[in-house]
Formats: sequence, C-alpha cells, structure tokens
Amino acid sequence: MDPGALWQELGWQPDTLQARSFERLYELVLAGNARLNLTRITGREEFWEKHLFDSLRGLAAFQDQKELSLIDIGTGAGFPGLPIAIAHPDWYVVLVDSVRKKIAFVLSTIQALGLTNAQALTGRAEDLAHRREHRESYDLAVLRAVAQANVCAEYALPFVKLGSAAVLYRGNWEVQEEVELARACRALGGEIVEVDAFELPVSRAVRHCVVIRKTGPGLRVFPRPAGLPTQHPLGAIEGAPRVESVEPEEP
Ligand code: SAH
Repeated sequence: MDPGALWQELGWQPDTLQARSFERLYELVLAGNARLNLTRITGREEFWEKHLFDSLRGLAAFQDQKELSLIDIGTGAGFPGLPIAIAHPDWYVVLVDSVRKKIAFVLSTIQALGLTNAQALTGRAEDLAHRREHRESYDLAVLRAVAQANVCAEYALPFVKLGSAAVLYRGNWEVQEEVELARACRALGGEIVEVDAFELPVSRAVRHCVVIRKTGPGLRVFPRPAGLPTQHPLGAIEGAPRVESVEPEEP
C-alpha cells in the first residue's frame, strides 16, 4: 500500500515538506537503530503503518483542532509525538522519556527535521508532573505502549488542564483493563469518554485508542513517587489474573 492510501484513510494528506520529513524520519530511525536498538519495526511499509499512520490515527478525533499543547509521555524513539509534531506545525509538542539516550536521539531528530514546534526532555512522568511548568499545563497527553492503562492514567491526568484529555494507544483491550482504568480514573478525577477500536489498514492488527478526560482537579499526591504507580497500580483488582495487553511495540 502506498503512503497516499494510508493518509486517505485519515482524510488528510501531508504537504511536500511533511512527506519529506516522514521519509527523513524513517532514515534517521533506521540509522539510530544501528546504535541504539530503538525499534523492531524497520521495514518501510511496516514503519509507515505502525509508526506513522498509527501515531496519527490515534488522534483522528482531534485532527482539526488548532494550537494544541501536547505531551507524549514515554515517547521512546519519538512515537507518537514526532509524527504528530510533523503533521501539526501549529501544535506545541513536548516529548518525554526517562531514558537519556532515547531523548538524545529525539532531540537530534527534532534538529535534523528543523521542527520548531517540538521539545524533548529526559525525566520520569512521576517527577515532571509535579513541576509547576508542566502540571495541568497541556491540552492533550498521549501514551503509547508505556504501562498498564490504569498506570498511564496516573501519569497522564496530572499533566492536562481541567476538561482536557489523554489518549492511551493500546493494542488489544480487555474488559478487566477497562474496569481497572475506570476505578483509577475515579481516584484521579477523570473518566473514560471513548474507546475507539480500529484495525491497521495493511496488517489488520487490532488497535484501541482510549480517551480519558480530566473532570476534577485531582489530588496533589498524584502521581505518586517514581515507581509506585507500577508497583501498586491504582484501581487494580486484587487477585484478578494480570492481563497481558498486546502493545503496539516493545522497544
Ligand atoms: N511510545 C513509544 C515507546 C514505547 S516503550 C512507542 O510507542 O514506540 C515505553 C517507553 O516509556 C520507554 O522508552 C520507557 O523508557 C518509557 N517510560 C516508561 N515509564 C516511564 C515513566 N514513568 N516516565 C517516563 N518515561 C517512561
């Protein structure tokens, strides 16, 4: 499938500059991969579908919004944040990861692509969310393949403004995950507003984008100190079998 057909699915087409940036991003990830082991997805068609299309498809509902500020938590090699920054020059995109060498790669990529609307920083979500310049500061948070959904909610909701949303990019989506996410959202001052199920156009792999909205200010204690959200996930049902969600990709 040629990239044009993928974009048609989104009802959007990149301009010449954006198309060139996507090509260049692919080259940079391949080159970075040789040194840093960034991704298993190296085939051209697979990269287009699973990194570029998937990154943008997750935000289909927000596609027409102007001047959003967005944070990508656990961005890895820059997904979904970099394709989003390329597709939306009028959005401001902050990419965060706890691993310094990944952020070094993302920063060099931002520079190579000449993106003036993206910034990257090293840090853990649990720490950054308590800093004044980041707390309740974003119109949207995105997380792909970072942690269990209820853990992602604890990372994400403190970053977004009241009334704003976080989009969790998931592979499969199980009832138990939704129950635990709903319980976590209640503790955090949020609610699940949408579960958007779709298939990728070439591989037919199943994806779910789960949208949660911040409905209350949330307690200052959240997110809890680094490591606690994953050790004691909010809303977890004691004794229930652990769901192994199929993530879009393991790094
Ligand atoms: N979102 C990317 C990478 C997924 S791998 C993609 O879909 O391709 C998960 C990434 O989240 C890793 O790079 C890991 O370092 C980062 N991460 C996990 N927990 C984190 C936390 N608490 N704060 C910041 N980054 C975190």
